[in-house]
Amino acid sequence: MIEEEDEDFLNKKKSKKSIIKSILTFILVIIGVIILALGNVLGVTYLFWIGVSIMCIASFFLNVKKRPKEPLIQTLCVLRCDLCDYTKVQDYKEGDFVFKVAGKCSKCDGSMKINDIYSVKLKTEKS
Ligand SMILES: [Zn+2]
Repeated sequence: MIEEEDEDFLNKKKSKKSIIKSILTFILVIIGVIILALGNVLGVTYLFWIGVSIMCIASFFLNVKKRPKEPLIQTLCVLRCDLCDYTKVQDYKEGDFVFKVAGKCSKCDGSMKINDIYSVKLKTEKS
């Protein structure tokens, strides 16, 4: 349940970002080509170089987009209440270990202990 929700949420967030980045990159490349062509036609050298630098920026955006392809791994802790068996999942923090007391139960006065620590692989955008 939790895994699916997390994956879904992350995928939505990412695909939106990557669409915006693709559009931005596309626009930058077009602007770069236009300025480059204009500089070429008019024989203006500095326009040519402006076009080249805009295309460099565009390729930088493309590289940034490629990075998140490696699988993301999220480590989660399953907390369980001593008294009422209420369980909760939260992000793993440095120093967390199994049986560590990680706070008070929100349902009763019991203390929440880490019952399990596990990692989930989060799907990345289409690879
Ligand atoms: Zn409890």
